[in-house]
Amino acid sequence: MKKIKLNSDELSQLYLHDKLSITKISTKLKVDSSVVRKNLQLLNIPVRSPREAVILAWEMGIMPRGATHPYWQGGKYTDKFMGYVLVYIDPSDPLHVMTRTGKNYAFEHRIVMAKHLGRPLMPYELVHHKNGVRNDNRLENLEIYSRSEHNEVHRYCRGCPIKNELRIIKAKLKKFEHLAQISLC
Ligand SMILES: [Zn+2]
Repeated sequence: MKKIKLNSDELSQLYLHDKLSITKISTKLKVDSSVVRKNLQLLNIPVRSPREAVILAWEMGIMPRGATHPYWQGGKYTDKFMGYVLVYIDPSDPLHVMTRTGKNYAFEHRIVMAKHLGRPLMPYELVHHKNGVRNDNRLENLEIYSRSEHNEVHRYCRGCPIKNELRIIKAKLKKFEHLAQISLC
């Protein structure tokens, strides 16, 4: 293969300053990508690892995000610990202010309520699941409360998940006590 010497200033400008990928540079300079790679080596410019390249592409906004991303899962997932559903909110969406800091996901129940009200929710506004099922985000299952109102609701709410869990534990304990008594007799 014929050795092609690229202009070193131009190459370092494109790769280090403009942060173009080897593929982009090869297209721009109308040479094979192996030529670009070889020339970078000659200049002792370290070639970015695939991981570095991905991070860079992401930072520069070249990497497709959201629905256009090849790994797109539908923009929804359930939080394993809390059981709440989180939805992807595009940064251009006015409701993006409701996403968790540094992330593009917001609680679905809050988004459903915000869309219903036509405005983003304030942090002190809480959305309650009437039937206590945290991933049942139908509008008819949701109610908006202030924090103190919400506390009151949970005090008397029969469908609250924590109260339900407590009820189950208490029932199990009762059964266990009952069995323990039998074995003692
Ligand atoms: Zn609640």
